[in-house]
Amino acid sequence: MKYFLFDIGNVLVDFNAQDFLDAIAAEAGREVEPLTARDLERIDAVETGRLSDAGFVDYLNEAKGLSWTVDDLVAMWSKMFSLHETGQGLFLDALKADVQIYTLSNIAQHHVDAIENNWSGFFDKMTGLFMSYKMGVRKPDMAIYTKVLDHLGALGEECFFLDDKPENVEVAREAGIEAYQFVPENHEAIRNAANEFFGL
Ligand SMILES: [Mg+2]
Repeated sequence: MKYFLFDIGNVLVDFNAQDFLDAIAAEAGREVEPLTARDLERIDAVETGRLSDAGFVDYLNEAKGLSWTVDDLVAMWSKMFSLHETGQGLFLDALKADVQIYTLSNIAQHHVDAIENNWSGFFDKMTGLFMSYKMGVRKPDMAIYTKVLDHLGALGEECFFLDDKPENVEVAREAGIEAYQFVPENHEAIRNAANEFFGL
């Protein structure tokens, strides 16, 4: 069996991480600031399911001077997300060819809700979903890749994986997965490699 594993952020759905910081600063009436070590730790916590969306919003309100609800956070992400044309093209071609398609994403419930708000049924077309907040582990931790392979009962070489972040690709490759960095300069090579891998 062969499996197509898609990262979501900046593969199937486009967004600019800077927009998140800009939106927070604009809402709080503060200067735009880079993420702190504590911010990154709280993002890790919410994306591994150790922190709820409500807890994450409480943290943002306290740390950034906001008065958001979870719905406000979801609405902000809905505005930030757009469909990634190239990633969607690969996804739809794989879907047409009856390829087994899974997401493999560092993600929290509020991101899922934002995507569902924008494109109802987005996740229903997948064969299955590997989501960090449900798995308790995030990329590029090796454990997430071994969990995926165990769950699928697959060898790494049976899996074709796209992710925009080089560190996520690197560790996937260490797990034996046929992984590619999904960036514009690689789009053509990735399309060819996918066609060859799945015999499209
Ligand atoms: Mg990504």
